[in-house]
Amino acid sequence: MRTRLDDFISRISAQRDILDHIAARQASLPDGPILEIGLGNGRTYSHLRVRFPDRHIVAFDRENGAHGSCRPDDGDVVIGDIRETCLSYTGTRAAVVHADIGTGYPEQDAIIREWLPSRVVAVLTLDGFVASGLELKHPELEEMPLPPSVEKGRYFLYRRR
Ligand code: SAM
Repeated sequence: MRTRLDDFISRISAQRDILDHIAARQASLPDGPILEIGLGNGRTYSHLRVRFPDRHIVAFDRENGAHGSCRPDDGDVVIGDIRETCLSYTGTRAAVVHADIGTGYPEQDAIIREWLPSRVVAVLTLDGFVASGLELKHPELEEMPLPPSVEKGRYFLYRRR
């Protein structure tokens, strides 16, 4: 029987493998910043910072709660409800968006899945990538193949068309 620990490990390694997968395609990435939607403890922010050293990274959350070792400058953290703050970044033309704001509760995640796709499309440039813990259904997002190590349905990868 699968445990929550199994699920956690699978989610975390999926994040790393997908971010590495995007980083390996850096030469073909469009210009633009990287947006970290859901800073949390800063683990994936720290990974993005190392894998994309030349990109400006802007994080979104209710607070700058990242671990001290990888805490972004306050000026690079947009504080507030992402549903609203993302809208104020419309037209940003980000090259990569990473969205990790799933709750693990199906009813709550269903609500997030209603508004998150349009927010992502509003900030993502053409041909930009989005990696998300929640499925994003939007006509301008084309689902991309996942690295073989990622379990289907565990994490999602799209490119804006
Ligand atoms: N990827 C992060 C890491 O590696 O540390 C973990 C992100 S954590 C799972 C999700 C974060 O998203 C939490 O810090 C939570 O506060 C934030 N979050 C979720 N929904 C939000 C919303 N609507 N507005 C602002 N922040 C939100």
